Amino acid sequence: MLKKNDILTLTVTDLTNEGMGVAKHEGYVLFIPKTAVGDVIRARVLKVLSSHGFAKCEEILTPSPDRQDVDCPVFTKCGGCLFRHIRYDAELAIKKSWVDEHFRRIGKLDIACDTIIPSPAENGYRNKAQIPCGEDKEGNPSFGFFAPHSHRIIPCDHCRLQPDFYADITRTVEAWMKECAVRPYNEETRKGTLRHLFIRDGRVSGEVMVCLVSNSEKLPHTDILVKKLLQTNPKIASIVLNVNKKPGNEILGGKCVTLWGKPSIRDTLCGVSFDISPLSFYQVNHDGAEVLYRTAAEFAALSEGDTLLDLYCGVGTIGLSMANKAGKLIGVEVIPAAVENAKENAKRNGIANAEFICADAGEAATKLAAENMKPDVVIVDPPRKGCGEDVIEAMKTLSPKRIVMVSCNSATAARDCARLSEIGYMPTKLRAVDMFPRTGHVETVVCLKRCLDN
Ligand code: SAH
Repeated sequence: MLKKNDILTLTVTDLTNEGMGVAKHEGYVLFIPKTAVGDVIRARVLKVLSSHGFAKCEEILTPSPDRQDVDCPVFTKCGGCLFRHIRYDAELAIKKSWVDEHFRRIGKLDIACDTIIPSPAENGYRNKAQIPCGEDKEGNPSFGFFAPHSHRIIPCDHCRLQPDFYADITRTVEAWMKECAVRPYNEETRKGTLRHLFIRDGRVSGEVMVCLVSNSEKLPHTDILVKKLLQTNPKIASIVLNVNKKPGNEILGGKCVTLWGKPSIRDTLCGVSFDISPLSFYQVNHDGAEVLYRTAAEFAALSEGDTLLDLYCGVGTIGLSMANKAGKLIGVEVIPAAVENAKENAKRNGIANAEFICADAGEAATKLAAENMKPDVVIVDPPRKGCGEDVIEAMKTLSPKRIVMVSCNSATAARDCARLSEIGYMPTKLRAVDMFPRTGHVETVVCLKRCLDN
């Protein structure tokens, strides 16, 4: 039996989606952070549990051929990237294996990804950052990222996943806070003002949004802030105050006040232009999203006159990007501001065959089924927890020819596909699209076809 502080020579054979290397010692599984598949290491045992244990890499005896030099000082400290220590092609192979494994193990489905499509950019792809604001030991404002599983801020003034100019905006806000004595919000005492700095940019339009999330209805000296921000970046088109007085982890509150410029920014995705408010969901990797939507369109294989139901539609991006191939598009989304954006987006793009419903996806699907709606294709793009059971139930009556599932969580996608297979929808194509290089996330797209007459 192993015990704490034992020294072992191990070969890493796998990586978990938390970024832990996996190795076996006489059949006993050990997890070792900061390692790569193929590393031969000298490891110190830190913890021994009945089913598995944890160890620390003391020395790399033979480095994995996948390894590369780490180019970020806060790698593994900040809770963002899992993969800066290995090449991107090795990361893609691991992510594909995760999706395949979820469909085999959780879904019990006999299907594997035909391929994993890489993101067009490995770094700088993020068009959105939510940067927590805290204070350092001297009481100065400090911006950075939360450490894994914690709310401790790891200061970082430039994240490689974001464009360089986000750092300039962050420094400007920091300087304004010092000059105007604006206090960072303290989660424990619930005192102080600024909670998060939220930045977004339109990759095609170049427009930038700066949103300050505050614990109060008003921020002091916003005139100075606006002036400083516009001097820092002339592409800023929208400066917004978001009020969040609630304790807890939710970053944004429900109320937005425009401090300068427009209440939203514009961007173009798959040739369709979109207005995006701070509260609306918008894919964080623009060029990756175009690849994702092209995959969804390929799987949807719409014919002229088809009715398309787009559940969990956000600002309408997926459906609107393929509305010209459909007879009719109906989008469903629960956030009212996103539905407003979706309606305006359809209008501005001259898309006359689209309708948007503000409702819970399950409730709307149940209601549409009761009204005897028969969509030809249903697209579902749920949040991480997956589709509600009522969405799956409604599919029995809606009985589309095809369901295209787009998901940022392959575990819940596999579970939902298993449920759909029980009601006669078999997955025929599975593909991974990497929208989040260097992190532990990957997007999954599944095409399910109706096999039984139900
Ligand atoms: N398809 C969109 C958005 C996908 S993200 C795109 O590609 O941009 C998932 C969306 O589902 C978010 O906009 C979220 O607000 C919405 N959502 C979450 N729970 C929901 C529910 N129960 N009913 C309807 N929409 C929901």
